[in-house]
Amino acid sequence: MRSFPATSPVLAASAVLALAVPAKAEEPPLKVLATVGMIADIAQQVAGDCATVQTLMGPGVDPHYYSARPSDVRAIAEAELIFYVDQSLEERLAETLDRFRDRTPTLGLAGAAFADTDLLEDPDEPGATDPHLWMDVQRWARIAPVIADAIADQRPGCAADMAENTMTLTAQLDALHHWLGEAIATIPEGQRLLVTAHDAFYYFADAYGVEASEAIEGISTTTEASIADIREVADFVIERGVPAVFVETTVSPRTVQALVAEVQSRGGDVVIGGELFSDAMGDSGTPEGSYIGMMRANAITIVTALGGALPDWPDALQGWADHWGISH
Ligand SMILES: [Zn+2]
Repeated sequence: MRSFPATSPVLAASAVLALAVPAKAEEPPLKVLATVGMIADIAQQVAGDCATVQTLMGPGVDPHYYSARPSDVRAIAEAELIFYVDQSLEERLAETLDRFRDRTPTLGLAGAAFADTDLLEDPDEPGATDPHLWMDVQRWARIAPVIADAIADQRPGCAADMAENTMTLTAQLDALHHWLGEAIATIPEGQRLLVTAHDAFYYFADAYGVEASEAIEGISTTTEASIADIREVADFVIERGVPAVFVETTVSPRTVQALVAEVQSRGGDVVIGGELFSDAMGDSGTPEGSYIGMMRANAITIVTALGGALPDWPDALQGWADHWGISH
């Protein structure tokens, strides 16, 4: 993971630069727009007072399906910097973002923060990117310095502060990443199987040692699941003895309910293990409305349903837990 030691030439250069440009207090906060909460939360923490970050899509909203409303077009037009994940995620919003691209700096983070070799491919569509990068915390942490650089282009006086914020956030995310790995490792080996509504968990599987079956719906949710899709996943659940499957906050629970009914009609035994935050965070003002809290909630749901035991919450994230009044 990229780190920013205090003696690094990057920091030293920023410090010198800071003398030559107006102090950040003299500049109004940059108007940043993020398509999804998983970007907005990281961007706000990196930017601190240097930017106000607005999110287009709130809790429960499926970014694969989402098209811009008139109020979104206004927000996009007023933004001074826009972040999105990838056209393979914000499939229908991409066209609207393109209309403003010449006027407003717009950054697709999958392309800006990752080499092609870091990206997983959509198994159903060779050559297409799987955009669900936030599911691997260590991967997702790499958007932080890219966001800091993009904001610093317009607010150079903020560069030094943002480098420090990035360092603090990176340390927290590193602790979260290791906790997630430890949590999944407590699940009995034969039960480390993740069956979900759509294919949002391949990066999670790659990072944390769980096997993600092909979900009922693919990487995108824009095509309807068929009876054949449900039967195919039911075969997997029965053959592997999967104890629990999961619904998602951004996808209708109907297909997962149909899967459970299909398995039970064939004499199999499976339950719905809970609801995962796949493509959106939880309600703002709740722990799950933050990126750390979203990933923590997913781990708790998965580990509990699949027969593991949660490890102690990391010391490095105690401040986060205190903020939300969570005792571990
Ligand atoms: Zn998705």
